[in-house]
Amino acid sequence: MVTRVCIDPGHGMSNRTRGVFDPGAVHVEAGVRFEEATIALKYGLTLKDEFRARGVAVFMTRDDAEDHAPVGQRAANAQNAGCDLFISLHLNDFDDDAANGVEVLFRGDDDKPLAVQIQKAMIAATKLRDRGIKQRTDLAVLKFDGRAVLIELGFIANDKDRDTLLNPQIRAAVCKAIADVAVAG
Ligand SMILES: [Zn+2]
Repeated sequence: MVTRVCIDPGHGMSNRTRGVFDPGAVHVEAGVRFEEATIALKYGLTLKDEFRARGVAVFMTRDDAEDHAPVGQRAANAQNAGCDLFISLHLNDFDDDAANGVEVLFRGDDDKPLAVQIQKAMIAATKLRDRGIKQRTDLAVLKFDGRAVLIELGFIANDKDRDTLLNPQIRAAVCKAIADVAVAG
């Protein structure tokens, strides 16, 4: 049961340094620049609509590229907003452009069932490689006091992952699937 969800599009303004935009992972392909922060925000805004359509209130850690959202403050902000679920959205990056696939990071046993369900739903919606779920206890956003997961939607430098994630129909399907699973769980 979720009544108010925090959606956290990774990176953005003042994420690491006040007044400095943190694009997260960046990849340039044929002269076009792709930023993790921008893609994650698109997913966040679509996901917001999906939750609202299901009657779930939404708190966004950032709505645009200007919102000041220091990474160390995001869990506390969600707490103060009365959220009972925290979903962070990121894209992976690696030196090797062949690295690909989806993974969901979670902190503890309370978060694991949701991580499993979201991972399953993500693979069904994207058909990308299943990298499985991973336990991480060191992430600032997962310090949220309540269920929390961090979704690595795919690898920004991998052509197949990036093309898939940039497809608006895939984005719609992914966000619908995440909201369905979160509301059911
Ligand atoms: Zn990231």
